[in-house]
Amino acid sequence: MAIERVAVIGAGQMGSGIAQVAAQAGLSVTLLDAVPGLSRKALEKLGGSLQRLVEKGKMTAEQRQGVLDRIQPADALEAAAGADLAVEAVVEKLEPKVEIFRKLDAMLPPHAILASNTSSISITQMAAATRRPDRFIGMHFMNPPPVMQLIEIIRGLQTGDETWRTVVELASKRFGKTVVTSRDVPGFIVNRVLIPLINEACFALQEGLATPEDIDTGVRLGLNHPMGPLTLADFIGLDTCLYIADVLHRELGEDKYRPAALLRQYVAAGWLGRKTGRGFHVYK
Ligand code: NAD
Repeated sequence: MAIERVAVIGAGQMGSGIAQVAAQAGLSVTLLDAVPGLSRKALEKLGGSLQRLVEKGKMTAEQRQGVLDRIQPADALEAAAGADLAVEAVVEKLEPKVEIFRKLDAMLPPHAILASNTSSISITQMAAATRRPDRFIGMHFMNPPPVMQLIEIIRGLQTGDETWRTVVELASKRFGKTVVTSRDVPGFIVNRVLIPLINEACFALQEGLATPEDIDTGVRLGLNHPMGPLTLADFIGLDTCLYIADVLHRELGEDKYRPAALLRQYVAAGWLGRKTGRGFHVYK
């Protein structure tokens, strides 16, 4: 099945990057967010960052304009009508996601595929809230989507073969990404491994093992990771990290996944990482 029109729901750090990837691949994109005006602001920000690519000679002015022209910002979910594929990228909580998918299911044409960018929530459970569980799939982009090479595809229990093939082809051929496929188990592949690492770094900090800088430098240079786990947590958003850790703990039922109290406290204090200027590190 050919995908030409994409709706991205949520214009935060992931949604705006996903819209950029799809528009750069030549697809027509509607980017929408429940906060009025936010998707328009995201598009303006994208215009600024693409302008810097033009100035560096990495993109022509025509290519930049083409990408921007292919993205329509919107505030109401109704703007998604007519999409061949809807990618949801809102807060990492089950209820708002299910609410959005119920509405999309009622509104989109029968052939349309529903995809969630969730980091940990069950694809099967979200799919069950719709009448098209065979056309429901997990499409987990990495942060930031235009830069990161991987897309993790998650097959729910009822995801159809054709849906899986269509999305794998879109991600690999049109987006030019590398694809891995995971079963629908909490955290899938990437966060099953990453979140316990980040959580362990939080426990280490909580125990006063070392400073945040030394924990990050130790892992970065000792394990040859491009960035330390606390810096990465700040990039992801500490709220998102906590939501994922809670899902792993609850769904896998093992004590080893319990989130560090310090992570919960930072989130309660509103220190969510780069997006709030303060997380495990301080950002100007
Ligand atoms: P974010 O907080 O930056 O953005 C979420 C956006 O969704 C916000 O702009 C918010 O206004 C909007 N929103 C909330 N409810 C909505 C609704 N009902 N309708 C429309 N818009 C709504 O969050 P993010 O970091 O972009 O994460 C979004 C999703 O992507 C989460 O499921 C997260 O787990 C997943 N994810 C995040 C990362 C990461 O590194 N941050 C990586 C991969 C996947």
